[in-house]
Amino acid sequence: MSDCCSTNNKSSTNQQNLSCPTCHEKGKSVDTITLKSLLKPDAMKRLDSSHNYQFCRTADCPVVYFCKSVSFRQDEIVVLVFQKENLPSTPVCYCFGFDRKALVNDVNQNGKSSIQEKIKQYVKDKKCACEIRNPQGSCCLGNISQVVNQSKVL
Ligand SMILES: [Zn+2]
Repeated sequence: MSDCCSTNNKSSTNQQNLSCPTCHEKGKSVDTITLKSLLKPDAMKRLDSSHNYQFCRTADCPVVYFCKSVSFRQDEIVVLVFQKENLPSTPVCYCFGFDRKALVNDVNQNGKSSIQEKIKQYVKDKKCACEIRNPQGSCCLGNISQVVNQSKVL
């Protein structure tokens, strides 16, 4: 398990990270299956599956996915994107349906996050499907920690 500390050598950088056409920040590679499961029908018609897509994490940028020739915005995605929409009803965990409000209430009531513990268990049991449910295409636990830590400060 100590191998996880050696990921500093950034082996993933040979997957070229393009810059977002709108905010010019570097994107994060996302599998096409994530777009296929989360794009609205009209956006699906514009999808060119021969391209590699990137996810834009910039909060105030309307672009969610992009490649060299096409981009897709928040209003073309079937769910609200955690990084883009700072609403109480914005999902944080897409697999098990916990939003910001649920997490904040949980921390306020219990002094810690019981939801976070539950999600960790669900993930351990391999019940999650982040690559097809979470717009970022990867596990939500980092975002959960972020919201939990913010709630504790309040
Ligand atoms: Zn952007």
